[in-house]
Amino acid sequence: MSYDLIVRGGRIVDGAGNPWYRGDVAVADGRIAAVGRLADAGADRVIDAEGLVVAPGFVDAHSHADGGVIVYPEMESTLVQGITTVVVGQCGGSPAPINPEMRELLEERYAKHMPPGIEFKITWTTFDEYLRRVEEVGVGANIAHHVGHSTVRVAAMGFDARQPTEDELEEMRRLVAEAMEAGAYGLSTGLIYPPGMFATTDEIVELAKVVARYGGVYDSHIRGEGATLLKAVAEAIEIGERAGLPVQISHHKAAGKSAWGKSVETLRMMEEARRRGVDVTFDQYPYRAGSTSLVTLLPPWAHDGGVEKLLERLGNEADRERMRRDIETGLPGWENFAGALGWENIMVSYVRSEANKAAEGKNLVEIKEMRGDPDEFTALYRLLLEEEGAAGMVIFAMQEEDVRRIMRHHLQMVGTDASSVASTGPFALGKPHPRHFGTYPRVLGRYVREYGVLRLEEAVRKMTSFPAQRFGILDRGLIRPGMWADITIFDPETVIDNATYQNPHQLPGGIPYVIVNGVVAVERGRCTGALAGKVLRKKVG
Ligand SMILES: [Zn+2]
Repeated sequence: MSYDLIVRGGRIVDGAGNPWYRGDVAVADGRIAAVGRLADAGADRVIDAEGLVVAPGFVDAHSHADGGVIVYPEMESTLVQGITTVVVGQCGGSPAPINPEMRELLEERYAKHMPPGIEFKITWTTFDEYLRRVEEVGVGANIAHHVGHSTVRVAAMGFDARQPTEDELEEMRRLVAEAMEAGAYGLSTGLIYPPGMFATTDEIVELAKVVARYGGVYDSHIRGEGATLLKAVAEAIEIGERAGLPVQISHHKAAGKSAWGKSVETLRMMEEARRRGVDVTFDQYPYRAGSTSLVTLLPPWAHDGGVEKLLERLGNEADRERMRRDIETGLPGWENFAGALGWENIMVSYVRSEANKAAEGKNLVEIKEMRGDPDEFTALYRLLLEEEGAAGMVIFAMQEEDVRRIMRHHLQMVGTDASSVASTGPFALGKPHPRHFGTYPRVLGRYVREYGVLRLEEAVRKMTSFPAQRFGILDRGLIRPGMWADITIFDPETVIDNATYQNPHQLPGGIPYVIVNGVVAVERGRCTGALAGKVLRKKVG
């Protein structure tokens, strides 16, 4: 028998959580053709995996690699850490569907987050048209899409801070159904972001019921991960219970001192929900800092009507004063990062303009001093105005004890919460959160090898078969004949993340080979440039 590829002599960690065993893995026509002792078999290519672990390619349960793949399909930061499938359309945002009347406005928004000179054209309207566009461009890793609740809300009713009319809600239901028909895996929400934050629980339940009809998942960046964490977890569970579908809590954490230790309670709530029959699980990235857009520091009312309105308010003295008061004292139900964490724990990770590049990697106290602004509020307002709202931040918010408790839990799976970026060139922008390059090697190198928080096989399960099962990607995530040949080969003695907050564009070590659909996508730790990924569509019915 002759195969396309044989990986010889590795320790197979099959993705199911079982102890490793020694064997060869043969690949033909993009799939795993045989596993075991294949000494007599030949192949066009042989990879010697002696001393290495041969695992299923990692399935990133929470990725923001969509949108960007249209202009950067190579997906370096994704592939080099061993990820072969990403689940995108997260935190309420997907690139489709769109309201054609908003095409230009949305293009402008995307353009603000692209490297200078890179054009971003929205050539699609429906969810299906977007998926086809990604297929045309090609993609480095497999990509499974959720439809975003905020995206659907914007398409139906714009950026307003109000409840939908019955007609608008019906339009949202229609758009969600259309996306599910096209192959979406679920519905995501981002309930700390506009306009998702303006939605009631009832609105989300109505849309989740549509997703339930198609066997999809409700995947949520919940309404708060700090002071309101417990209420927010309860809401996510309630939505799953009322709409009758599985719940995935995104990037689970206890953020800010007031929430530290509360993971004991959130994990208990989820276990209890499961006993009642609610299928709830969660993902996590292995860091004490989070990351999101800088405008998230402003109170909900400031976002009413969209970014243009927000910028107007930032220029208005009375509105600035009101924002300051709200950040100082907080508002019921609002995730107030600056008030909860303090300015010294908020680091600007990305700005668009050359003039402000020195702000990247500095916290707001340092930025205030550097700019000579009278206080941090003024520094924030002026920076946001200069950047037209397009800036990113890293927030230092979690304690290690919660990170480990959440990681150890059997309902945890791994996800990056990162987009796909490059280590050099135009797509290596700013100082993004180190999770972009480091999530998976960090779990394997630090939490498995150095700290002993997880067994190797358990960590691999959390990276492969568990997320694959969660989203219904049942032909990936295991080393078994018949599965698609997504394979990650790493050295358990040397695998490590090298990306840091100040120096985040560092390739990980100890992951020499990554195979996507039978094609070698990473060789000696470097991307080959192959666009071997597929656009995955959830099968309906
Ligand atoms: Zn999120």
